[in-house]
Amino acid sequence: MERNTRQREAVLAAIEHAGRALTPGEILALAQGKVASLNLSTIYRHINALQDEARIVKVLLPGHAARFEAACGGDESEHDHHGGAAHHHHHFHCHGCDRVYALHACPGSMQDLAPAGFVVSAHEITLRGLCADCSARRAT
Ligand SMILES: [Zn+2]
Ligand SMILES: [Zn+2]
Ligand SMILES: [Zn+2]
Repeated sequence: MERNTRQREAVLAAIEHAGRALTPGEILALAQGKVASLNLSTIYRHINALQDEARIVKVLLPGHAARFEAACGGDESEHDHHGGAAHHHHHFHCHGCDRVYALHACPGSMQDLAPAGFVVSAHEITLRGLCADCSARRAT
């Protein structure tokens, strides 16, 4: 049981410190440095438990395997979410390193984009391009 707790702590720490959405393989690579007994099947078990506890959330981008990121806490000060509805944010997918970063901002409901009479209830936005590391690398 204690081993279980240490594993879960390592998985959560890896996701929280990464500051971006991680695939299970990336989580394993990061967490295994701390707890060598981890493997992909234990990673999935801990991911499921951490999702149940609402500590992490699943990020699904079309055409990509599921990734996981730390749940945004109740601290709205670091967010600029319009509408004040349920917390949500968007993502940036770097096509240089294939990493996915959370964007803690939202342009609003974009009701204006919908034809007259349509009611927008949700949207998903994924920006694509190069992250700071990749664009700096490309410039040299
Ligand atoms: Zn990149
Ligand atoms: Zn957020
Ligand atoms: Zn939004």
